[in-house]
Amino acid sequence: MSNVQKATDVILIGAGVMSATLGSLLKELAPEWDIKVFEKLASAGEESSNEWNNAGTGHAALCELNYTPEKPDGSIDISKAINVNEQFQISRQFWSYLVKSNLIRNPQDFIRALPHMSLVEGEKNVEFLKKRFKALSDIPMFQGMEYSEDPEKLKEWIPLVMEGRTSNDSIAATKIDSGTDVNFGALTRMLFDHLESKNVEINYNHSVKDINRTSDGLWELKVQNLESGNTEYHTAKFIFIGGGGGSLPLLQKTGIPESKRIGGFPVSGLFMVCNNPEVVEKHHAKVYGKAKVGAPPMSVPHLDTRFIDNKKSLLFGPYAGFSPKFLKTGSNMDLIGSVKPNNVITMLAAGMKEMALTKYLIEQVMLSHEKRMEELREFIPNAKSEDWGIVVAGQRVQVIKDTDTGKGTLQFGTEVVSASDGSVAALLGASPGASTAVNVMLEVLEKCFPEQMFNWKDKIKEMVPSYGVSLVDNPELFHEIHTSTAKMLGLSEKERVYS
Ligand SMILES: Cc1cc2nc3c(=O)[nH]c(=O)nc-3n(C[C@H](O)[C@H](O)[C@H](O)COP(=O)(O)OP(=O)(O)OC[C@H]3O[C@@H](n4cnc5c(N)ncnc54)[C@H](O)[C@@H]3O)c2cc1C
Repeated sequence: MSNVQKATDVILIGAGVMSATLGSLLKELAPEWDIKVFEKLASAGEESSNEWNNAGTGHAALCELNYTPEKPDGSIDISKAINVNEQFQISRQFWSYLVKSNLIRNPQDFIRALPHMSLVEGEKNVEFLKKRFKALSDIPMFQGMEYSEDPEKLKEWIPLVMEGRTSNDSIAATKIDSGTDVNFGALTRMLFDHLESKNVEINYNHSVKDINRTSDGLWELKVQNLESGNTEYHTAKFIFIGGGGGSLPLLQKTGIPESKRIGGFPVSGLFMVCNNPEVVEKHHAKVYGKAKVGAPPMSVPHLDTRFIDNKKSLLFGPYAGFSPKFLKTGSNMDLIGSVKPNNVITMLAAGMKEMALTKYLIEQVMLSHEKRMEELREFIPNAKSEDWGIVVAGQRVQVIKDTDTGKGTLQFGTEVVSASDGSVAALLGASPGASTAVNVMLEVLEKCFPEQMFNWKDKIKEMVPSYGVSLVDNPELFHEIHTSTAKMLGLSEKERVYS
């Protein structure tokens, strides 16, 4: 056992897309700062950010129906869709900056143009989709979206989905070509390679076990080197807890008041993956449906063309389920271990409220292959059982907290929790997730480095020209940014070109 003391400016816990993004932003804004990373696994991007552990949708609200809820008066609320889209434009701008500056290369290895579609069946749902289309089609970022109820048109767009469809129910879809498939695993690895080349010290196989404040105001991490078995102590002025599902237990260890009365609700996931290349070739889109009644928003079914390792794949899911683990590589004791005296009431309240959801998730875990195939056949009527296998996706830990609507309320978004002095920040929650990493990490900088932000503003504007500007209110700027990022990221040939 060794007991080493090392001090640094910044420590990033976890080598997922969030730490990768924050590290890359900081290297541009404060290149002289020392940064260390501790990751318990053997390489970067192995948990939720891995390409097989998430759906790879560049979430821009082009097809996800849960971002446009119907209001009680029957109109469509598009505010969240606009917000999510604006956040994705921020990611596109930062990634373009990195490519333009030669800090990362070959953007086609992590982002590809791919039509995003919504597909619904039944009169009520068709009516909803039509209203959604009308509400969005005049907004700059949704221009180019097409709507059709014509089965012949749909056969053209999604032959695999229309083949063998016998139902006489009305059907409708929207399609927009400016969608993307993003390989967040590849992006994470590229960003860590870049950070390594900028002398960031990346420690794989290092698990953070404890976090404490020192008498001189630094944060001290107790870290176990999983290869040697040694325990090390590292100190930093600022720590970012980017542990994905593992962030909540680490945040609790800081003891900051902001970490109290927060709990986590873990949701597991499965994808069906097609192993028949002929079927894979017949489809070219991300097609999102509507969540079933009682199903949580993260289990909206979708059929996705994916580009993984330069190969086209076809995935369906996710089938959400219940598992007490906070990480895919976590422990069955994670959920119980996160219950503390300060959050027990919050957790119990959530347990009472979310009985139906928990029951739904447990039932989902128990589904047989044939039952899963039945759900898949709602998308691909002719799907054959032997063509489809299963991949276990990442864990999502949804935040539980006390809100105005009551104790123990389940949240479906992401939350940055930071200390009032800005010395520590943690990212909790999972949605919209990796797509909005740049915007969320800029929020971390705003919360934790308010004094530096004044000096950093020009550089941030260089990296993200729309920073601080509403794109929906500035259509010309949106078109300019959308066109230039499409070109820089190699999306423009297949994307609808805006001018
Ligand atoms: C099924 C599913 C589908 C999804 N689909 C999409 C999608 O289509 N589009 C989208 O944008 N987002 C999607 N997401 C969300 C997205 O994957 C996540 O938001 C994102 O990957 C989170 O990145 P992260 O860096 O916070 O966490 P992770 O990628 O999970 O990284 C956290 C890292 O921290 C490490 N770690 C944890 N604890 C410790 C410790 N104590 N010491 C050292 N290291 C530690 C872990 O090993 C891990 O490597 C999906 C997620 C899931 C689960």
